[in-house]
Amino acid sequence: MSTTRTAVVTGAARGIGRAVAHRLATDGHHVAVLDLDESACQVVADEITDGGGTALAVGVDVSDPEQVEAGVARVAEELGAPTLLVNNAGIIRDNMLFKMPVEDWDAVMSVHLRGAFLMTRACQAHMTTEKYGRIVNLSSTSALGNRGQVNYSAAKAGMQGFTKTLAIELGKFGVTANAIAPGFIQTDMTAATAERIGVPFEDFLAHAAKETPVQRVGQPEDIAATASFLLSEEAGFVSGQVIYVAGGPRD
Ligand code: NAP
Repeated sequence: MSTTRTAVVTGAARGIGRAVAHRLATDGHHVAVLDLDESACQVVADEITDGGGTALAVGVDVSDPEQVEAGVARVAEELGAPTLLVNNAGIIRDNMLFKMPVEDWDAVMSVHLRGAFLMTRACQAHMTTEKYGRIVNLSSTSALGNRGQVNYSAAKAGMQGFTKTLAIELGKFGVTANAIAPGFIQTDMTAATAERIGVPFEDFLAHAAKETPVQRVGQPEDIAATASFLLSEEAGFVSGQVIYVAGGPRD
């Protein structure tokens, strides 16, 4: 087994983040479970500790600078220097451009881009001191363009440029940064999309599976497995990359 490190996963109370938190605990790491609601984080942290792992629940709004600084400081104090970071927290506020309120543009930019910036700025201080770090940012196939998601696709394309610049700036400190761009993953987020467009989730899943080259939708564990590799010691020569995990070139 590789060295035990401290990992921070944002948006880890459910969906992809929860699966990544579990996978990193199975990989032998100590895991800080960050999300808006600390009691929801505690449920996941308890699942990890019940399984023999080490976890800490921390309630943090990633778009709030004070909460981010305090949350990361608490992780460092209680679990150790966070040298693995997964910027996963995300929201959707879908609408066609002509109907999109400015608040929904700002909210999406704030959680994905400002959130990833604040979390990474706070954690890189520990990574550069430790001369080791692994950062994984969640992008999306929507970065390639998706009707009704002008805010989200801009944010997810932004995550890719953010990732590449992190790789350039932090490489000399032993830190890598990569992005995962998932296709259709079965979570509450895709269930919410089905509800918004008025399609039963089962039908939505079946349609998505048919459109995907491997003929199935993705599961949170598909993303967790890719994150596990990119966050491993042996992935040290992979940096600034965007890995599409979409059952094909895109969903
Ligand atoms: P999800 O089930 O909706 O989970 C997202 C989590 O992020 C929720 O627990 C949410 O908390 C949390 N969150 C939202 N705003 C936050 C904030 N300001 N601070 C901290 N946590 C916050 O979504 P998911 O499907 O697992 O998606 C995870 C990531 O993958 C997102 O970045 C998403 O854009 C990306 N992604 C997903 C898919 C997909 O098909 N599902 C595809 C491509 C990319 P609350 O529950 O309290 O709102």
